[in-house]
Amino acid sequence: MYVEKDTQPSTMLLEVLRNWRWLSQSQWLSREELVDIQGEKLRAIVSHAYHRTAFYKRLYGVTCPEIRSSGDVKKLPILFKEELRKVPLEDRAAAGTDLRKCVRKTTSGTTGTPITILEDPKSAAYLEGLHLRRLWSYGVRPWHRIFRIVAGPAEKVLTQNIADIAGFWGRIRTSRLARLSSADDIRDHLRVFIEKRASVLIAPPSYFRALHDVCESMEARIDLKVAVTWGELLDLKTRRMISDFFGAEVYDGYGCTEVAPIGGLAWECPTHTAYHINIDSVLLEFLKDGEDVASGESGEVVATSLFRWATPIIRYYLGDKATPIDDECPCGRGLPLLRNIEGRVVDSVKRPSGEYISPYTIMFTLQDIQGLRQFKIIQRSDYSIEVQLGIDGDIDKVLREVDEKCRELFSGLSYDIRVRDTIEHDTGRKFKLVESYVS
Ligand SMILES: [Zn+2]
Repeated sequence: MYVEKDTQPSTMLLEVLRNWRWLSQSQWLSREELVDIQGEKLRAIVSHAYHRTAFYKRLYGVTCPEIRSSGDVKKLPILFKEELRKVPLEDRAAAGTDLRKCVRKTTSGTTGTPITILEDPKSAAYLEGLHLRRLWSYGVRPWHRIFRIVAGPAEKVLTQNIADIAGFWGRIRTSRLARLSSADDIRDHLRVFIEKRASVLIAPPSYFRALHDVCESMEARIDLKVAVTWGELLDLKTRRMISDFFGAEVYDGYGCTEVAPIGGLAWECPTHTAYHINIDSVLLEFLKDGEDVASGESGEVVATSLFRWATPIIRYYLGDKATPIDDECPCGRGLPLLRNIEGRVVDSVKRPSGEYISPYTIMFTLQDIQGLRQFKIIQRSDYSIEVQLGIDGDIDKVLREVDEKCRELFSGLSYDIRVRDTIEHDTGRKFKLVESYVS
């Protein structure tokens, strides 16, 4: 069984390799064994949070909640982002955390409420292990050049790099994996990709679309081996474009900065069957009216990180909807499966009745229309909808089809359709398929 130890930057390399080795083996354990490990890790993190942080002590009351198995997570209260955000970082940070060795991470304010967490070297080494396990299963090897697009301005990318504090491991890592800022000019990125012969690119789907457009306009080409997407819903069209234009095998992931970023929660199986949930590293719940949903039913995601020691995150409401499935995966991994990550409830189209239409539903309804290059939905505060379209083919035909689908999709809501040359999105932010201004 894996034992947590303190990590010093000088031993980062060993720690990453140890985590990677353990994680590479644990993915093949049986579901029961994995659930047991999850229970043990949950007990450890809850006890750590209770005894080391002022916030969880206050939250859980006079005694530390008794955790015997992962099911006991239900004894703990669910935390909402707005609530957690009000708690000062000092109250959430575990006593004994060496702040000089931690990286402060604040989640992007454009996708919700900004919140800061601390990434200590131990958690960082664990995350590296998780990413390595995943990339290795996609056939990525040490000789491949990896580029990762990071949100935010360039100076933030530099200061938030864990490699800065990670000594020898940091140097190895930076020689193979380069981070580029989403705020840079994408044409500069393209030059770097060509010059350095990029073979793996980790970026949001909207970045791949923008890169494709830049390649076309500069009449340039790059061939990728693997494309890893994260942060936004990956529609079928973008997936096909990445595989056809860049020649890459495409794998999507599901993560969130506070709990486990870039596919740290769940990652697409190399067989493309569905997403594997990292139950050896996180605990995900899928709830409807506070109860677990059945297999194949969609639920709201509540997540617990089993490796964030500096700022523990326990039963954290993510605001996404996703569907767990009981099926065994043909790849043989014991990690359970998830499908249909539907996106955030707040990024959905709302009806006055309180019901909503998820970005996932919209994406799957519209994405197969021939000649429709891109689309975006904006809902105004009076519930009316503007459907923005980028069209490549026969405009009249596309408009007719979109109108037909929208009538069904948005029945009862008024909508208008507008054709745009380009659909605007700020490169420093995530592309949102749906922007709703209904409060
Ligand atoms: Zn699988």
